[in-house]
Amino acid sequence: MKVTEHIAQAKDTLISFEILPPLKGKSIESIYDHLDPLMEFKPSYINVTYHRSEHMFKKRADGSFDKVEIRKRPGTVGICAAIMNHYTVDAVPHLICGGFSKEETENALIDLNFLGIDNVLVLRGDAPKNETFFEPHPNGHRYAIDLLQQVAHMNNGIYLEEDLMGGVKTKFCIGVAGYPEKHFEAPNMATDMKYLQRKVEAGADYIVTQMFFDNQKFFDFVAKCREAGIKVPIIPGLKPLTTKKQLTILPRTFHVDMPDDLAVEALKCKTDKDVEQAGTEWLIQQSKELKAAGVPVLHYYTLGKPHVIRKVVEAIR
Ligand code: FAD
Repeated sequence: MKVTEHIAQAKDTLISFEILPPLKGKSIESIYDHLDPLMEFKPSYINVTYHRSEHMFKKRADGSFDKVEIRKRPGTVGICAAIMNHYTVDAVPHLICGGFSKEETENALIDLNFLGIDNVLVLRGDAPKNETFFEPHPNGHRYAIDLLQQVAHMNNGIYLEEDLMGGVKTKFCIGVAGYPEKHFEAPNMATDMKYLQRKVEAGADYIVTQMFFDNQKFFDFVAKCREAGIKVPIIPGLKPLTTKKQLTILPRTFHVDMPDDLAVEALKCKTDKDVEQAGTEWLIQQSKELKAAGVPVLHYYTLGKPHVIRKVVEAIR
């Protein structure tokens, strides 16, 4: 079932979880171990992130180097299929522009359609760790909106090689990312909002936000979206603070602010266990307020912390 159908049929705020494919060498059991403690909360769907390959240099016999792409994690399409079968829950694979050609994207979409997966979250992706700027694949997409248009075309039966599929229409429900504290590359909020609005005009069915720790930022963002004429559901993305180091790492990596009260509380803690406790309490309060405000879904980034997310969801049920 599509994310938008879940939302349309819901009587209360829904719950969804997001997981990361494990590192190569681990099995699907590691995903089940991660998700098992969370499934009693009956999430409406599970998101699975997508990760580009990393660049490595391999020495040739003549001493020169070949740039090769090495994948660190198993593929998102297979993981989504396994989750859907194992739990009978909807899966939402992320699709990214970075590192992928249009043909590879089309192949992934054909596989997803074949497997009965009718949701995708469409993203640009970031530059690889050792590069400063995002560069698209030579035959790929520069912005999420370009990838979104490829999915929307397939929903209308238009493929790269039209003859091949005979106009078969896919029916993907398309999500996109939004940034309550602005995407870090956007010169200002108004510009970022303009591009978000374009993604919606191009066919995005809903928006999921980057994590935030101050609900007011989310409420202001929703108000700005509505002023800009964006009517689709806006789903808050939520993550607990669990270590002192994250006070620096999260703002640096995700370009989000830590509210002073949370930072002061975390800095007072003696151990990371105490920080995790404070972060859990904070996320419970955030979730309660968002639920009371009538958000359609509470979307939790579980990132190796299913026991924390369990405590949060238990507290708001
Ligand atoms: P875009 O919408 O393309 O925007 C990127 C930047 O370009 C913004 O500054 C925007 O204002 C600007 N822009 C947009 N369109 C145009 C245009 N037409 N012309 C000029 N400027 C434009 N990354 C992963 O690698 N894998 C994942 O699974 C993943 N999941 C995520 C899930 C969520 C909910 C979120 C919020 C992020 C996720 N990311 C993931 C990170 C994401 O890929 C990065 O934040 C990336 O830097 C931007 O992606 P986007 O889809 O928002 O890009």
